[in-house]
Amino acid sequence: MGDRGPMDPPVELSRRGFLKACAAAPLAAGGSGMLTGEAQAMSSGVSHYPNGLQARPINVQGGEKFVAIQVGGVSFVDEGIDRVLDILQEQGGVNALMLAVFTYGRGIAGRQVPGQPLPDHGVQQYDSASFHGGSYTANHQQYYSGSVFKDFRAPDLGDFDLLEAVIPKAKARGVVSYCWLEDVYNARFIPNFEKVAELDVYGRTTGEACLHNPEIRSFLGSLVEDYTKSYPIDGLMWGSERQGPLNNAIGSRHGGFRGRASITCFCEHCMKKARERGISVERAREGFVELDRFVRSAYQGHRPADGYFVTFWRLLLNYPEILALEKLWTDSQHEIYGLIYGTVKAINPGVRVGWHIWHNNSFSPFFRAEQDYSKLSKNADFLKVVIYNNCGGPRMAEYVRNIQSTILRDVSPEQVLALNYGIMSYGKEPELNSLPAAGLSADYVARETKRAIAGVESNVAIYPGIDIDIPTASDQKKTRPEDVGAAVAAALEAGAPGVVLSRKYSEMRLANLAAAGSAVKRFQRQG
Ligand SMILES: [Zn+2]
Repeated sequence: MGDRGPMDPPVELSRRGFLKACAAAPLAAGGSGMLTGEAQAMSSGVSHYPNGLQARPINVQGGEKFVAIQVGGVSFVDEGIDRVLDILQEQGGVNALMLAVFTYGRGIAGRQVPGQPLPDHGVQQYDSASFHGGSYTANHQQYYSGSVFKDFRAPDLGDFDLLEAVIPKAKARGVVSYCWLEDVYNARFIPNFEKVAELDVYGRTTGEACLHNPEIRSFLGSLVEDYTKSYPIDGLMWGSERQGPLNNAIGSRHGGFRGRASITCFCEHCMKKARERGISVERAREGFVELDRFVRSAYQGHRPADGYFVTFWRLLLNYPEILALEKLWTDSQHEIYGLIYGTVKAINPGVRVGWHIWHNNSFSPFFRAEQDYSKLSKNADFLKVVIYNNCGGPRMAEYVRNIQSTILRDVSPEQVLALNYGIMSYGKEPELNSLPAAGLSADYVARETKRAIAGVESNVAIYPGIDIDIPTASDQKKTRPEDVGAAVAAALEAGAPGVVLSRKYSEMRLANLAAAGSAVKRFQRQG
């Protein structure tokens, strides 16, 4: 199999992690103001944790799989910590928690989203309309003295501290705990957010954080420093479901998109970086305004004489700055990987660090081109590659309709889908009219797992994200136990050393969770 699983000896993890931390340190130093303590930890090579609390491998013998689940604080508050751990272990075969510790979104925190059926466990009520989000731990102010954000504790669960409450109980059961945080903010709830906000091509402030902004880099460094130093965590995963201005402009994604407001970022920090790369900022701005004009005209069905695709490609030829700025954006995101990796490893090389790779990687060849697994594996111990096959059906259909409505408008959505299956190396998957209700197959899970394993260094673990009851529209694919069983089996048979059950326990039905546990057990019996 070759992938490094959780059973490898900790000394190996530490040594390799330390070397990687050294390699990542220059990135970490850029813009983060909290390095003094880490530099000490790094030079002494000693963690402040007593040995018993060191991050450690699980399931030392027997080649057992890493079976993680994403779970937010509300489930532990609603159902009780021991009760939730009992269910996760007994039914899901879970041995790792991805604790949703920082987000302003409902995708990974909070109860079931309103409008979707409540699952068969937990409080049978939706969150109040005032769902807030933030950090589900105490804020240790010593880490944020120079930070742009100081008040970001999630008020939703009162004084409940997710990491403090859950980690000791999980550890006592041999279950490891990872912090799970994502690049999702709510500008309305965060004083000073405008200081870090992206600016669109028209100079308007957006609700997204600029990943080149030194203040957000410093904040993220402080946040992961706080988590790593304040709690005996075993790992940390960050996710950023975003992309650059070219992909955004042409609608190269599933789901809804924000149109012109997502043609970002043109803030002073990004423009400075652009100039340092020799990119003409004026030409870049002009090119994106032209691209925006082209896309809006396409939406209105005004076909250029040479067709949509040729006209789009001509824009890229006339304004190569469009591609240069797309790359600049993606590099900013990947520099954050280096920052987080270097910061955590310098504090405790035994803490495993990895990334949640957005589902758009399964749909958009444009986004996929930016997710170079061999490069991503330079600053990661693991990658959770989202390979959700159930909601993958409706999402693939959304992607096809989005991209067909702009640059691929010369051909039909059905033709775009057939082309996409070919480009993305998928096998026999449903046609467009049945795709949203059918979902993608377990074969898709196997193919994407193999591709990721082939793409990374052999010592970086690939943990496919498996979807369980991720909300879809009422006439779209719903998760069934046999779907979960087949997807988990496909991932493991393709060589994955583990899986991450997603998106959050509070939306999963127990029969589907149990199907994951049974599939892992079946696989291990066979193996
Ligand atoms: Zn910017």
